[in-house]
Amino acid sequence: MRNQETFGSKETADVVIIGGGVIGLAVAREVALRGGGQVTLIERGRLGAEASYAAAGMLAPQAEAEHVDPFFELACASRDLYPAFAEALREETGTDIELERTGTLYLAFTPRGEEELEHRYNWQRRAGLLVERLSAEETRQLEPCISNQVRGALRFPLDVQVENRRLIAALSASTEKQGVRLLTETHVQSLITERGRVQGVETSRGVVHAPVIVVATGAWTSFLAASDKGFRPVSIEPVRGQMLCFASNPRLARHVIYSPRGYIVPRLDGRLLAGSTTEHAGFERRVTGEGLNAITSHALEIAPAVGGLSLLDSWAGLRPRAEDEWPVMGECAELRGLFYATGHYRNGILLAPLTGALLAEQIMTGKASPLINAFRPDRFQCVGVN
Ligand SMILES: Cc1cc2nc3c(=O)[nH]c(=O)nc-3n(C[C@H](O)[C@H](O)[C@H](O)COP(=O)(O)OP(=O)(O)OC[C@H]3O[C@@H](n4cnc5c(N)ncnc54)[C@H](O)[C@@H]3O)c2cc1C
Repeated sequence: MRNQETFGSKETADVVIIGGGVIGLAVAREVALRGGGQVTLIERGRLGAEASYAAAGMLAPQAEAEHVDPFFELACASRDLYPAFAEALREETGTDIELERTGTLYLAFTPRGEEELEHRYNWQRRAGLLVERLSAEETRQLEPCISNQVRGALRFPLDVQVENRRLIAALSASTEKQGVRLLTETHVQSLITERGRVQGVETSRGVVHAPVIVVATGAWTSFLAASDKGFRPVSIEPVRGQMLCFASNPRLARHVIYSPRGYIVPRLDGRLLAGSTTEHAGFERRVTGEGLNAITSHALEIAPAVGGLSLLDSWAGLRPRAEDEWPVMGECAELRGLFYATGHYRNGILLAPLTGALLAEQIMTGKASPLINAFRPDRFQCVGVN
């Protein structure tokens, strides 16, 4: 069916997934792989053109964590799925998602920063995690581009990166190969509900009937309406992140490098990404002078040579953030057949393989893995149908 055509009256699916970002695609692939019947993914624009396109592709739970909690455990478990996930996608589609395993550095530039490194090193070692402490000299030996103002660093060998745009391409090809129906340029306007159950979705091209609906609409989740007016979706707000992209040939660095204020990410093809901002700017997905200025100065603090690179591109994306900044995953207690896979905030690329697996497991077996427990949608009060 061409994308502009409207549906007939008997359009049906076993599972409908709303949203074709990395999360919707990962769930669709996994449900299809497990034999979940006819899976239809509905995306109002192009696949993976929103936050999933804007991301830096870092898979770095250790570099960002302050302590062990269910979120940290989820993030590490998902990171650890990546080698097999990348290999499976390559076999299925021929696309290499460029899982780059040099590792991640986290730098300190002040005495306070050194204390933070010390704290992080100690708790991660106690937790049995792989982390290395480097002096200023060792840091600069490893990555000579790093500023001579650096006072030390931690190296996380297991925190790696992928090329997220290749990941989107691979997931799109894989889902198509598994027989998932990909409906792009199709807007889901509301859920059709009856007696506390979902029955399907009303779209810009007509109705699709389905007993299971997965909401993977990222930053736009709060707009979801239902025929039952009592329905309130979980509340997700957009948090803008801007990004710059420089040409760096030969490559300036091999590691992903963080400071407390920003990061640089060297891609295999010679691009160097620099990020980012954290802004509450509504749905305005644009790059601003202020954003550009802040990102550049943070990148220069890490590696002064960035000042001589050509700026190739810039963009912005909207991170989907729930009130407590944790993802929202699993079945909605009040509306049977409705599942959430949203609110992945800063870590949707990292969390995609495990989100796909956990959602597919719950949809197919009716049982929720203990890993998903802390992220259930009913931890918020606002979900419900009268
Ligand atoms: C600058 C920046 C850097 C980042 N860096 C990283 C990183 O290094 N590592 C990491 O793990 N994460 C990173 N993230 C976060 C990551 O990008 C997100 O968590 C992730 O992309 C969320 O995926 P998603 O599929 O939920 O959302 P999206 O990719 O935004 O997809 C949601 C989709 O739903 C569609 N949609 C919405 N409403 C409807 C509707 N009613 N009908 C049909 N379709 C609809 C939208 O069009 C969109 O395509 C970064 C984000 C930004 C902005």
